[in-house]
Amino acid sequence: MARKPIIAGNWKMHNNSAQSKELIKGIRANVDSLDIAKLPEIVVAPVFTSLYAVNEEICHCGCGRIKLAAQNVYFEPKGAFTGEISIDMLKDFETSYIIIGHSERRQYFGETDEMINKKAKVILDNGIIPIICCGETLEQREQGVTDAHIEKQITEALKGLSTEEVAKSVIAYEPIWAIGTGKTCDSTEANRVIKHIRSVVEKVSSAAAADAIRILYGGSVKPETIKEQMAQSDIDGALVGGASLKADSFADIVKGAMIG
Ligand code: PEP
Repeated sequence: MARKPIIAGNWKMHNNSAQSKELIKGIRANVDSLDIAKLPEIVVAPVFTSLYAVNEEICHCGCGRIKLAAQNVYFEPKGAFTGEISIDMLKDFETSYIIIGHSERRQYFGETDEMINKKAKVILDNGIIPIICCGETLEQREQGVTDAHIEKQITEALKGLSTEEVAKSVIAYEPIWAIGTGKTCDSTEANRVIKHIRSVVEKVSSAAAADAIRILYGGSVKPETIKEQMAQSDIDGALVGGASLKADSFADIVKGAMIG
């Protein structure tokens, strides 16, 4: 099945509202005139406090070529959870995607596989699409446990989801040693791990879901690397950190992922 590619920019903890507005305007200036039929889905994930401003800019565009993502959500609907944000609050901004399980959230904020599974369920129950991140540390790679580690992360994240829910979800394979380091994972190796992820999805869900689910690569993606990455059989796009913070480089990555 033909899977629509996605290029998603994770802005992490950068940019206040005015700076976010500048960035999205810059991206729009580069992508608004491109042939929409050939474009990948373009997704940007600003900080919570910039969602309003960025959504306003995206709506003005009127063509739906750029979609909004949040970088996190809490799984409870409301209550005494100081500092957290609920799914209902994110729906105010027409959020299409929500990133969950990013390695930085796992490492610095104690996000567990169980929490990621609860978040995936609440996101899908509300008609939004989770971008579920997974990936190994350098130590795990050197110990030869990459595939087993990722199998566990994906199995736990998808627990209890219907095959339809799995099919519409997105996974981002992000080797931790490649994030923000400038070291990209070799494209054929990234493709091998992504094929492994697809086989795990088939095992825990169905062959149809494994065929439909979009799996992105993330880790120091740059304009110079995207063409080779997109040429791989199983890589359906990219989750981009550093290079998404400059309008030109993000737009060049989008252009490198254009179909045809
Ligand atoms: C990320 O944080 O998801 C990421 C892939 O970052 P970078 O592109 O900077 O490695």
